[in-house]
This record gives sequence, structure tokens and C-alpha cells, in this order.
Amino acid sequence: MTDPTFTPRVFSGIKPSGGLTLGNYLGAIKRWVEMQEDPTYETIYCVVDMHAVTVWQDPADLSRATREVAAAMLASGIDPTKSILFNQARVPGHAELGWLFSCVARVGWMNRMTQFKDKAGKNTEKVSLGLYAYPALMAADILLYHATHVPVGEDQKQHVELTRDIAAKFNHDYGVDFFPMTEPVIEGPAMRVMNLRDGSKKMSKSGESDMERINMLDDADTIAKKFKKARTDPAALPTDIEGLKDRPEAKNLIDIYAGLSECDAADVLRDFGGEGWGKFKPALAELAVEKLAPVSAEMKRLLDAPDELDAIMKQGAERASEIAEPILSRTFEIMGFVR
Ligand code: ATP
Ligand code: MG
Repeated sequence: MTDPTFTPRVFSGIKPSGGLTLGNYLGAIKRWVEMQEDPTYETIYCVVDMHAVTVWQDPADLSRATREVAAAMLASGIDPTKSILFNQARVPGHAELGWLFSCVARVGWMNRMTQFKDKAGKNTEKVSLGLYAYPALMAADILLYHATHVPVGEDQKQHVELTRDIAAKFNHDYGVDFFPMTEPVIEGPAMRVMNLRDGSKKMSKSGESDMERINMLDDADTIAKKFKKARTDPAALPTDIEGLKDRPEAKNLIDIYAGLSECDAADVLRDFGGEGWGKFKPALAELAVEKLAPVSAEMKRLLDAPDELDAIMKQGAERASEIAEPILSRTFEIMGFVR
């Protein structure tokens, strides 16, 4: 374990902080399934419930959202025989290594995290200490498994870079080559799905208004209504991607279409360039319903079978612990803890 040969191992997670959005689906889960099917990687996917409580969660909502995130992963194609799927609170090593890493990370590094600034807004004195410190826990989530690849949306890139800084400082300070340098895996047209009402903000499950996001459990009418009301500019769709410059809302809808149909924005513009929104938006809604309906139907079935979901997460936690325990023990040993 002192000189691990770093095998390609993927770790990623989603917070159960609300219902899942199209952003989570296109930016995270869909690509997790692709990595699961690639034999190069061992894949570990986590419902990061301990991150959710960095902001207030009603206990009943937390339990429901934890199962909803697990159901979304399974319904989208995460296969518990191929991937390890579990919720974070079941593996105490995350919190333990998170504390150790909060003693490695520097306050100056945390002060540079743009997501904290976005989430805390003007309220920096009143938010939880956990919201500020959460990138150290996220580094622990990843490095507890010596994960080498982390598929995330653009918004999480800075946190994966911080994970590398923590690994490098730990290795340097203790004179070891123990934690790997994790790579963020960010690619594809929909890596940053934007808010439907404000193209300068990302779509978030915890965003203020339901109209700004598409939820994975939204029905066909709701999806059509939300796209219809999505903000756009009055001009028609351009015929090439240069024409999307300075048109963030237009670019977002086209990127969503590309993400859902697994093509590039240029291909979408080849089909729809010159058309008005009155033609494009209904086509987009139809495509989104076509892709999401089977997933949401399976999610609903799983949510009606909480015992099945819980058994899958429990078994996943046992497999995760088998990987985590020797890595955590060795970390304590390197640091000189008497245990
Ligand atoms: P919250 O508002 O509570 O932070 P969130 O929607 O940002 O919720 P997270 O649980 O923070 O979701 O992130 C889960 C995964 O989804 C991460 O990999 C993140 O990069 C990805 N993701 C979140 N929002 C988007 C988005 N708008 N576009 C692409 N990927 C996204
Ligand atoms: Mg987020």
C-alpha cells in the first residue's frame, strides 16, 4: 500500500439535496453509465448525503431524496453488479479522512472556491462551517478509494483540482507517494446545463424556482411548459456555432438537445438553423420526454420498493468499506496515530 500501483478507479457522487435535474442527468449520471461499461475502470458511485446537510435538510426530505438519487442512478443504467453504489453515511471513513484532510488543506485554498461564494452569497457569516469545508470532505470521498478519475460537471472542476492539491501536500509533507493525482473527467456538450430562466447561472436542484430546471420526475406537460417558458432572445436559431456567441440561453437549449441526442451543437444547428423557437422548443420537449420518460417510470417503481433500494445501498457500502479500510488505516499509520 505504500507504493500503490494506481489502477484506474472512478468515483463520483450526487448530493440528495432535492429532486434530480436534467443537469445532473446529462452532466453526471449519463456519463457514469458510460464509464461503468468501459472495462478499463472500476466504478464507485455514491449518494453523498453528508454533503447535503451542509445546508438545512428536513430529516424526512433527506431520507426521501437519498432514495430518489439512488433510484435515478439505477433507473439510468447503473448496475450494482458492475458498479459499487452506496450512500456516504454508511461508510464512516469518509468523515474520518475528511477531518484529516481539513488539517491538510489551507484556509487560503478554501477562500478561492468559487462555489462557496456562489452558494453563500452575501451570507458568509451565517452559513454552516460545513458548507465552507465541504471540498475537504469531497477530497476524502475521492481519495478514500484512491480514485484516479472523477467524472463531474464543469462546476466541480475546481474541487477536483483542490483534491489534487491536498493529495500532493499530504504526499510531500509525509514523504510518501500514497495518494494519486486524480483527473477530472469533463467532456461533452452538456457539461454545464444552464438555468432555463437565466443563462448565466447553472441549473441546480436546489435553485429557487422550479421553472428554472427540468426535474427527472417531471411529467411530459411540465417539461413542455418549462421549455416553452424558457428564456430566449427573439432571433432565430443560427446556422453555425459562431452564431451562438453572446446568446447564452440559445446556446443552452441547443447544448441540451445535443446532450440528449448524443450529437454536437453543430449537428443540431444543421437541422434547426434558421428556424424559430416556436419550432425548436416543442422538438426539444419531445426529445426530453422521450429520453426521460422510461427513466422516471423506473425511478417511480424503485421508489415504491424502498427495501430493495436500501438493500442495494447496504451491500454497496460493504464493498466500498473493503476498499476504504486499508487505505484509511495506512493514512492513520503514515501520520503517526496510535490506534
Ligand atoms: P445543489 O444545488 O444542491 O448543489 P446540484 O444540482 O449542483 O445540486 P450536485 O449534487 O452538487 O448537484 O452535483 C452532482 C453532479 O451533477 C456533479 O457531478 C455536478 O458537476 C453535476 N451537475 C450539477 N449541476 C449540473 C449542471 N447544471 N450541468 C452539468 N452538470 C451538473
Ligand atoms: Mg452543486
